[in-house]
Amino acid sequence: SSVSGALICTLLLTFAWEFLRRRQFWHVTDLHLDPTYHITDDHTKVCASSKGANASNPGPFGDVLCDSPYQLILSAFDFIKNSGEEASFMIWTGDSPPHVPVPELSTDTVINVITNMTTTVQSLFPDLQVFPALGNHDYWPQDQLPIASSKVYNAVANLWKPWLDEEAVSTLRKGGFYSQKVTSNPNLRIISLNTNLYYGPNVMTLNKTDPANQFEWLESTLNHSQHNNEKVYIIAHVPVGYLPYSSGIPAMRQCYNEKLVNIFRRYSTVIAGQFYGHTHRDSLMVLSDKEGNPVNSVFVAPAVTPVKGVSQRETNNPGVRLFRYEPGNYTLLDMLQYYLNLTEANLKGESNWTLEYILTQTYDVQDLQPQSLHRLAKHFAVPDSKQFLKYYNYFLVSYDSSITCDTKCKALQICAIMNLDNSSYMDCLKQYSIKQSH
Ligand SMILES: [Zn+2]
Ligand SMILES: [Zn+2]
Repeated sequence: SSVSGALICTLLLTFAWEFLRRRQFWHVTDLHLDPTYHITDDHTKVCASSKGANASNPGPFGDVLCDSPYQLILSAFDFIKNSGEEASFMIWTGDSPPHVPVPELSTDTVINVITNMTTTVQSLFPDLQVFPALGNHDYWPQDQLPIASSKVYNAVANLWKPWLDEEAVSTLRKGGFYSQKVTSNPNLRIISLNTNLYYGPNVMTLNKTDPANQFEWLESTLNHSQHNNEKVYIIAHVPVGYLPYSSGIPAMRQCYNEKLVNIFRRYSTVIAGQFYGHTHRDSLMVLSDKEGNPVNSVFVAPAVTPVKGVSQRETNNPGVRLFRYEPGNYTLLDMLQYYLNLTEANLKGESNWTLEYILTQTYDVQDLQPQSLHRLAKHFAVPDSKQFLKYYNYFLVSYDSSITCDTKCKALQICAIMNLDNSSYMDCLKQYSIKQSH
């Protein structure tokens, strides 16, 4: 009958939708809300995050000398919601408060900003499981995330409860990290690390070999996943490996970076992907084992905030990204980077978030597997590589294609993409005849 026909039809549609939904997830990072942002004739007063400098070209969606107005953040989430791309979860790798001097914030204002961002996400995506990670700015004073329970850890444990089980809430409360199974994907676990404990400016962890016992916990969690045939996505704010720009230093303290690299190498068959924020730029890394074989793909997502310093030339357009994976084994298949041309959005008074690039198509690679990205990185390294020109333009989220990357800049980029541990990174710099600065 037509009734059962309609029923079958509905069932098929539901099944098809579920099927598609299970194959992708969103990654957003570094929202950096500046609640003081407002349009005014005195350009020194547009936002506290410009620190007294004249905003350059302020509009409704922000300015490159300011952190995000709420309207910019809302436009990003509205785009995600209305994109037509159904995702099974979202990862959110931290840094919600603005870049302002420490005395201008407090524990309460930091918690307020994180609460505002969390409720924004929860009201727009009531049925989506979201996996947050804490950033170095998600604390007051900034960077000083502690090795034991704190008001902030407690606040986020309560805020993020709807997405997490009891065990996850409990470790979050104690040390700002957790692991959590993905409800819609059997045998997929997210490990959300508090890598801010390893961040250079954090004095709370000076001389500590295993701050908050996170290394020990990470190893035992990965070991558990290995024995239970789970796959793991690692998410965190401060990335593992070396910074891809002029400094040539690891993003975290070197001793911690070495430890983390060793753990990731040991469990590379369990880890199906690694996702970070913090640098505000779009970059790739390939973790190799000690013999130089690629074993893990690492993705650093660009920020939603477009902020830069007054004397800085480079920054990023606001970006959000979508990953596609193979259900069942969680192999990463593709990444779609979306962005907002900030200048254009301010000019038109409307936010036209668009696709910037699709990773496999733009670089002509098969998938996001370590072998594929390793091959790509070798192509980048060739002098005058067209692929690398693209990569550098995307590094800045198409902010300014007239900014070029000279020989030294390129060497630092290539070495950071291909080498995550100290000895291989140093060997790489030597190959390019670059002396270490310190
Ligand atoms: Zn940030
Ligand atoms: Zn950060």
